[in-house]
Amino acid sequence: MSASLNAKIAEVFEEPGCDKNQGKSEKERKKGCTKQLSPGAAAGGCAFDGAKIALQPIVDVAHLVHGPIACEGNSWDNRHAASSGSQLYRTGFTTDISELDVIYGGEKRLFKSVREIIEKFDPPAVFVYQTCVTALIGDDIEAVCQRASEKFGKPVIPVNSPGFAGPKNLGNKLGAESVLDYVIGTREPEYTTPYDINIIGEYNLSGELWQVKPLLDALGIRILSCISGDGRYNEIASSHRAKVNMMVCSKSMINIATKMQQRYGIPYFEGSFYGIGDMSDTLRQISRLLVEQGAPDDLLARTERLIEVEEARAWTRIAHYRQRLAGKRVLLITGGVKSWSVVAALQEAGLEIVGTSIKKSTKEDKEKIREIMGLTAEDSAHMIDDMTPREMYNMLKDAKADIMLSGGRSQFVALKARMPWLDINQERHHPYGGYEGMVELVHEIDRAIFNPVWQQVRIPAPWRDDGETLGAVSAQPAAGGAAPDDMRFLADIARRAMGISPDELPA
Ligand code: SF4
Repeated sequence: MSASLNAKIAEVFEEPGCDKNQGKSEKERKKGCTKQLSPGAAAGGCAFDGAKIALQPIVDVAHLVHGPIACEGNSWDNRHAASSGSQLYRTGFTTDISELDVIYGGEKRLFKSVREIIEKFDPPAVFVYQTCVTALIGDDIEAVCQRASEKFGKPVIPVNSPGFAGPKNLGNKLGAESVLDYVIGTREPEYTTPYDINIIGEYNLSGELWQVKPLLDALGIRILSCISGDGRYNEIASSHRAKVNMMVCSKSMINIATKMQQRYGIPYFEGSFYGIGDMSDTLRQISRLLVEQGAPDDLLARTERLIEVEEARAWTRIAHYRQRLAGKRVLLITGGVKSWSVVAALQEAGLEIVGTSIKKSTKEDKEKIREIMGLTAEDSAHMIDDMTPREMYNMLKDAKADIMLSGGRSQFVALKARMPWLDINQERHHPYGGYEGMVELVHEIDRAIFNPVWQQVRIPAPWRDDGETLGAVSAQPAAGGAAPDDMRFLADIARRAMGISPDELPA
């Protein structure tokens, strides 16, 4: 690894806002991330992937991947970070290096690629991502980017986070370091107001930011920049003039919040947009910090009035679902989304949480989960550190849960157990932010649990004569599910399709 990359990684491991790193000894921190990667595991997210995921939602810049084409193919457009304007961020740019570049070096090719992008697309900036192969052959992307910036008069930003540097989380932070070093503070905003904030670590997945923005607009609070969902280069470059920073997902880009506090004196807090109570707390925290920074204090009263109206509206809208979902049990396996925040949201919907993953949670997150679920310090039965697919399957099959909320990778476990499943991770198709998102989340859970397909797929196969019921089937079909007559009818259809006479097998 180059000396500059080593130094950057060491800096990230010193991050004061990350309690995981602060909990390590001096020796452990020097060692960095020593977790042995297993072959093929990079597909789940290498450091390059982490940096790309964190920065790709900046919508008006060109994201150029310097490496073999497969690296870009690995990470291209696999999330639903929405844009309200430019679609340039969704175009996959890569230098697609070949064997000859490996022998002779890929720097010239990179320079030419930057030129071609600027000539054809004229973006406000080009982000250049380092990958394993180009780092191993010694391509100096920092030097090429500097030369290209001077030559073309445009910011060309190096993101030095090759895959072998470590896991995805480290890549998120290395991507954030590039933004801190080369973007933030390089421009001045056209004007400022006492109500300017930055939102950090929000990626506008499926448009979640747009569920929150109208609430801030109603209070006159301006999002000076969002890093990085629906982000614009010039907004992020001038984000150092904000009065308050809100940190949405502490694991991904906490270094931006802590360094902006050190460099520009901007206070930050950690909040969540999921659930009615947490959304209200977030609005209160933003207003309180803005008033502390000099905004007129009538903001506090206006915030309380808005919360009162919005909460009442949200509770009314989910009342119907709360009745139907009361007592239903959820298995929650979250990745990027904060588990404590989702736990609180699900409890508001009247659901019972039979287990929640804490694999990626910080110590603070775990304490919050305990508090919300009313668990003692010793009681960790509901907090799952790592659950194998087989354990998940058994839990669902034995009907210990009515639905699983997880990422796409675990969906097949739930489908195999013939149990409802809802995508709660980064690839989700529905936005769950703010009060509006809470209604959407409850609606989607209701749709998944009461979908009549579950009754149909659980009908015993006609060729099974032991009468065993597959999956976790309740004796009575759920509301809206198939009636016993319908089940017999469906089983008959299956028999006929297979050319089996009804007399050959028991009904
Ligand atoms: S950067 Fe390295 S680990 Fe990541 S996708 Fe490319 S080759 Fe694989």
